[in-house]
Amino acid sequence: MEILIKGGRVINPADGFDAVCDVYVANGKVQKIGENISVSSDALVIDATNKIVAPGLIDMHCHLREPGQEYKEDIKSGTQAAAMGGFTSVACMPNTSPVLDNAALIEFVKNKAEKEGSVHVWPIGAISKGQKGEQLAEIGDMRAAGAVAVSDDGHPVSNPELMRRALEYAGMFDTLVISHCEELSLAGGFMNEGAVATRLGLKGIPNAAEEVQVARDVIIAGELKKRIHIAHVSTEGSVEIVRQAKRRGIRVTAETCPHYFTLTEDAVEGFNTNAKMNPPLRTQKDVEAIIAGLADGTIDAIATDHAPHHEDEKDVEFAAALNGIVGLETALPLGITYLVKENKLTLVELLKHMTSLPADILGIKKGRLAESEDADIVIFDVETPYEVDVTSFASKSKNSPYHSYQLYGKVAYTLVDGKIVVNEGKLQA
Ligand SMILES: [Zn+2]
Ligand SMILES: [Zn+2]
Repeated sequence: MEILIKGGRVINPADGFDAVCDVYVANGKVQKIGENISVSSDALVIDATNKIVAPGLIDMHCHLREPGQEYKEDIKSGTQAAAMGGFTSVACMPNTSPVLDNAALIEFVKNKAEKEGSVHVWPIGAISKGQKGEQLAEIGDMRAAGAVAVSDDGHPVSNPELMRRALEYAGMFDTLVISHCEELSLAGGFMNEGAVATRLGLKGIPNAAEEVQVARDVIIAGELKKRIHIAHVSTEGSVEIVRQAKRRGIRVTAETCPHYFTLTEDAVEGFNTNAKMNPPLRTQKDVEAIIAGLADGTIDAIATDHAPHHEDEKDVEFAAALNGIVGLETALPLGITYLVKENKLTLVELLKHMTSLPADILGIKKGRLAESEDADIVIFDVETPYEVDVTSFASKSKNSPYHSYQLYGKVAYTLVDGKIVVNEGKLQA
């Protein structure tokens, strides 16, 4: 199929290209970018006037819940949610049931995604067998089967010696290690430690619960000269540790999530279980530090940590509610509304955190909008506000704190390998 995307503001964040022009797509690739491209009359024309045309977004951290928890999400629904949010590649975490800790399961996810997925799926394997934090998983075999990284996400690697061996072993296969930093002996609470927790009578989680492990991991990675990636950075102290480590030449990268730059612990007021996550929502000071970290490049990627849960798992007393929120369908609009419209980042900078930077960390040849690249493209509107309606989400789960928010940046089209997956804001039948 041939597609001509006409008259949009075309942005390639990797090299800063930013111009109003046309994009011609055929055979799954971007064939030409330029002004007034003329093509055969068979080509489908998408009018992108007053819209942004950018590389499809890359989410380096989501939970698709398959195998084992398909009542929350599966590869089909999760990748549909991704496409609706403008993502064309997602890396999914291995805390499924069973845990993705061997090559056969990595292949299962890849095959299933090939058949049923709306976007590209890049599985992440476990660091330890069963994510139990005891024995290393077969990282080399998983890498060979297509795992882009390893992580025990959902659980920390509590034993520093195991993390050290994981970095050494994964490093032999140039495999990225993603660390969910949480010192469990400090983390036995339900929300951020502070005034709100005290008022609500909930046990708090201090910033140190995250920061001591961020510090530990950059120290170990630095000593070994291996790569480490810090998942879902939520605190001012973590940002500062990563900033200092980068200055010292340690090979550390980091991600944060939209909820850590848009919400504070105040969102928990009224015992809102859709504001319960791990790490917890912090304070305004932390939010500002996260934004500063994105602005100066300390934080590389914006990931969703899309964590679907069934209504019954959230509609319980706060302490018993499961952690996490769905994020694929609101990430880009939250970035545009809270970072670009507030003049914290330029649109090109925001998109870089959501395209080329995460692609490069994962080592996948994605995240570019340029001639001869794969035609994974998102087209969205930054001028017209819309109201978030969780009931319209393609995700099976609706656990989002952003219901009825007015945001900018609704996705109009998503193309994957040159095929239209989202058409005028709706999934292509
Ligand atoms: Zn995590
Ligand atoms: Zn996660």
